[in-house]
Amino acid sequence: MHAASGSIVPLTGRNFLYLLIASGIYFLSARFAVLLFSLEPGNIALIWLPSGIGLLMVLRFGYWAVPFVVAASFIANSAGMAAVLTEHVWLHTTIAALSNGFESALAAALMRRFLPEGLQSFQDIFPFVFGVCLVSTAANSTILFVNLVSAGFFSIESSWMVWLILIVTNSLGMLLLVPLAQSLLQAWTNRRAMSLGEASRCTGLFIMCTGMTWLAFDMFAGFIFLILPALMFLAVQGRKESVYVTLAATVGFTVALAASDYGPFLLSTAEWSRLYLLTYLYTLIVLVLGTELYQRDLLSEVQARQSWQYRAHHDALTTLGNRSLFIPLLENEMKRAERMNRAFALALIDIDHFKGFNDSFGHALGDKVLREFAQLIRKNLRDIDVAARMGGDEFAILFPETPMSEARHAVERLRKQVEKLTIKYHGRTIQFTISSGLAEFIPHETHTSDAILGRVDQLLYEAKRQGRNQVQA
Ligand code: GH3
Ligand code: MG
Repeated sequence: MHAASGSIVPLTGRNFLYLLIASGIYFLSARFAVLLFSLEPGNIALIWLPSGIGLLMVLRFGYWAVPFVVAASFIANSAGMAAVLTEHVWLHTTIAALSNGFESALAAALMRRFLPEGLQSFQDIFPFVFGVCLVSTAANSTILFVNLVSAGFFSIESSWMVWLILIVTNSLGMLLLVPLAQSLLQAWTNRRAMSLGEASRCTGLFIMCTGMTWLAFDMFAGFIFLILPALMFLAVQGRKESVYVTLAATVGFTVALAASDYGPFLLSTAEWSRLYLLTYLYTLIVLVLGTELYQRDLLSEVQARQSWQYRAHHDALTTLGNRSLFIPLLENEMKRAERMNRAFALALIDIDHFKGFNDSFGHALGDKVLREFAQLIRKNLRDIDVAARMGGDEFAILFPETPMSEARHAVERLRKQVEKLTIKYHGRTIQFTISSGLAEFIPHETHTSDAILGRVDQLLYEAKRQGRNQVQA
């Protein structure tokens, strides 16, 4: 399974280049966040994507990525720090950069500890939100906060909220980017074309989510609520990557719009407005993540049940149906034949001297004979006929709505083809024959499935007794 916290790649020249590119993205997202998404007071970004990028870098490239995160953070922060600090600018910038690197390393270590397979199931939300995001960002925020206070950037009393907001904004970066990166990586690994309907539904919901965000800021604040059902619908119906791309676009758009005007999130003070907005974003992301993961759980449960049912009703060696699939089908056909007043035929086929193959050449050859024979049966049948492996070297074929003459013709043809079939095995050529009992079921004779199977079994016995390689009807 490909997961965000999957394999660490070795530090080759190519990966070094990728790390440099990732550091560039880290740097740009940090500059971008400060320029576009940050609000007074404190000029703190509303969503700190670099924390998500740093986490992904360490998950992908291992702890080699940490110095790159530190360097990118240092360069990204130095201009801003120099503008507001008067003393020890380099010291405070270095502490902040080291703290950001520490956050990425800690988050990655926690991710590997709690979620080694990445986000897979609804159960993973709790360790992800609290165990990974909250712990690592709280550690980082505390260091950043102390660093900023000791630099005289603000006082503790006036800005305890800054500490809280640093946790939330850094968590948001991780909460948004980890599922996004994981879903894009998976989509890339198992590339699958989107149907037109699927693509138009996703596009429609994407436009609705971003459009409603814009309307909420520009017209009527209540429109912000209309995003929820649209995103929920997408999380249930859409592909993972569409869900997270739309979510990221909606969140990014909201934050970009809020940077100039709080819009639907306007409260009495700027601090409360910001907290209100962040609460909304947090809720939105966790809700969508939860729904998408829950939907994944439901789907995998359905798939597990289907594959379990399949295995219970099919023979693994030949992939034909088994007895427990065949008997209900036979009983169904008996009822139908009675109702429609039409006959059907049933054949029981057994390989002659099969035990001898096992004894002389080994079980593997026996298996090969069974598989090739099953293949031949499959090739010979019409769509409506049903074949099953009843056990050992015994097979049954049900011919619905078929008179005896036709069924007999089909089984004889199969018998002749088996005669001609040659199986190559370790340089030897092996041939075999089959015997069959075949009976017609006439409606209005009262029968049970056991009785009719007993009758063909007797006929099969007769075929064996009379020298094998024949059909007894
Ligand atoms: P006959 O002509 O009277 O049918 O003789 P036979 O040797 O075929 O006798 P029988 O049908 O009783 O033998 C069935 C053998 O099939 C016995 C068992 O060891 C073997 N067998 C059952 N299931 C498998 C299987 O899945 N793989 C292999 N290789 N052998 C199997
Ligand atoms: Mg046999």
